[in-house]
Amino acid sequence: PSAVRLRDVGKTFRGRRRRTSALEGVSLDIEAGEFLCLLGPSGCGKSTLLGILAGFVPADSGEVLVDGRPVKGPGPDRGVLFQTPTLFPWLTTRQNVLYGPKARGALTRETEEEADALLETVGLADFRDAYPHELSGGMRHRAAFARVLINHPSVLLMDEPFGALDAITRAGMQRFLLELWQRHHMTIVFVTHDVEEATLLGDRVAVLSGRPGRTKAVVDIPLPR
Ligand code: ADP
Ligand code: ADP
Repeated sequence: PSAVRLRDVGKTFRGRRRRTSALEGVSLDIEAGEFLCLLGPSGCGKSTLLGILAGFVPADSGEVLVDGRPVKGPGPDRGVLFQTPTLFPWLTTRQNVLYGPKARGALTRETEEEADALLETVGLADFRDAYPHELSGGMRHRAAFARVLINHPSVLLMDEPFGALDAITRAGMQRFLLELWQRHHMTIVFVTHDVEEATLLGDRVAVLSGRPGRTKAVVDIPLPR
């Protein structure tokens, strides 16, 4: 079974003055362990698609399944990373990583040990007691990674996660993400408008294309391998 399955998904935003059709009739299957980079011009609905998978945006129509289950809202099985890492400024790196398990009442000795191991993995062991404002841009991204990974998500959803980083930090994060993917066999949906980044990272690259108000299609680009 597919890790992610969209069937005829539609989404229209209704404002006071106008309606914006973001997605119409979109279907997509992603196999478990695939690293899909999704390209498309700005405004074509990439973030909406990701938001639907994350459970932040309800679809108007169609079927949305992750690991065979209908998406009804956000859940720890889907890790989400945006361009700006969202960390709680009043919590330390370690407390940020442990926030999810704690909020779910699932904080155990093992979880705490895992948090420390994850902080080691992302190179923040020495910064476990630092607050977000004490971290560099790359470090904040890695902290956000650790916070998502502690939930053992089966799918990682990323919306232009490295768009705001300088070239060197970005290259470091790309390398880190590829290592992570190879080690954990996660399914990754990575939205970007950077063709070079998409072909560098993805083992599958697709374009979301179509006009507003029409059926949109996710079209695969054959990659030389
Ligand atoms: P992309 O990520 O490809 O740039 P989006 O998914 O952000 O595209 O947007 C798709 C379309 O839906 C755009 O026309 C955008 O203006 C519109 N849209 C997105 N979010 C909202 C919203 N919350 N309210 C109204 N319109 C929205
Ligand atoms: P990144 O690639 O994570 O953005 P930087 O290039 O900003 O990292 O910083 C390089 C190194 O400098 C970091 O790995 C860290 O060891 C150190 N560093 C960065 N910010 C701080 C800080 N606020 N306090 C102490 N050391 C720092």
